[in-house]
Amino acid sequence: MQGACPCQLCALEMAAPKVAVVGAGLIGLSTALCISEAFPSCRLSVLSEQFSPNTTGDVAAGMLIPHTYPGTPIHVQKQWFKETFTYLFAISNSAEASEAGIHLVSGWQVFKTPPKDQVPFWSDIVLGFRPMSAAELQKFPQHRSGQAFTTLKCDCPPYLLWLEKRLRANGVQVHTRKVADLWELHREYDVVVNCTGIGAHQLGGDPELLPVRGQVLKVHAPWVKHFIRDGDGSTYVYPGIDSVTLGGTREKGSWSLSPDPGTTKDIFDRCCSLEPSLQRAQDVRVKVGLRPSRSSVRLQREVLSRGGAKLLVVHSYGHGAGGFSVHRGTAKEATRLVGECIAALQGSSSRAKL
Ligand code: FAD
Repeated sequence: MQGACPCQLCALEMAAPKVAVVGAGLIGLSTALCISEAFPSCRLSVLSEQFSPNTTGDVAAGMLIPHTYPGTPIHVQKQWFKETFTYLFAISNSAEASEAGIHLVSGWQVFKTPPKDQVPFWSDIVLGFRPMSAAELQKFPQHRSGQAFTTLKCDCPPYLLWLEKRLRANGVQVHTRKVADLWELHREYDVVVNCTGIGAHQLGGDPELLPVRGQVLKVHAPWVKHFIRDGDGSTYVYPGIDSVTLGGTREKGSWSLSPDPGTTKDIFDRCCSLEPSLQRAQDVRVKVGLRPSRSSVRLQREVLSRGGAKLLVVHSYGHGAGGFSVHRGTAKEATRLVGECIAALQGSSSRAKL
């Protein structure tokens, strides 16, 4: 019987649902790309107030070293990290690596007192994780132990620009637009994906979401080839393709985007005590970003309704200090939730036709 295929994808193609991703930071662009790959027949748009180079990811170092979300089971965090690492490792091995700003970087995580977690949950996903040798530890006379490994780094803006280029190639519309209330989109779109980072504090009124301010320096020091992360990551030296990121700070509840000169000096001094050659670094630029932090990433479906009308929403925000490390994994999960919304729409429109 013609036209009666029960396959969900065929049904979706007939309906061509309209989906908007709000936010063009790392999470919005990577989620939109994943949706455009999974549902090529969707009419997909990205709406955002800001784009690279004015997003949080443009401040970050972009290292794949997971941050732990206390409200999310470790096996889920591990899965997100593994999916992200595998995805970026494939890009790093392709001819697109340079344009996408993805590269492998080796280095050391060093400790003054031994960490509680000698073997972190992500140790078998990064490459070559092992305790540091005595010879390596000689470089860090103030530290007693350490771990050596190779991981990936996403340099921004290149990675964000690469994502945006891929989106446009997949036919996704990209618009500059500030959304004051998700409900304002209900006449234009069937499904809205909320990837607004710290913007979700105002947009969704989420009291659990708080900024954790981070100040970093981007310096020219091309001789620094290995990363160094001190203990819990409060001080770090992360070499990228064009600059080295020196950090950092974690100021809970601070909304200030203005650089603080005293903090700049403190970061520089701390990093020089780890890597004394940085005294000769040049072209120091100071950047500040607000990590969108909560106990777990909010990855959830919600149905907004007013006066009998409904809007299907998928939230994906609250990636805090670890967005780069898990973004492809959470993008896949958000895409699965978008698929559920589309299937629900399809179900309700078939019922309406009957
Ligand atoms: P954002 O980049 O803030 O994007 C939000 C987007 O939503 C923006 O485009 C914004 O304009 C838009 N938006 C907001 N509100 C609205 C609205 N009302 N209407 C329309 N658009 C709106 N993570 C790692 O894994 N490794 C690291 O090494 C690392 N280092 C970091 C260092 C620092 C100093 C900082 C600050 C963060 C670091 N992070 C790191 C964390 C990582 O950068 C974040 O988790 C990630 O960038 C968050 O991305 P996002 O897309 O959710 O937010």
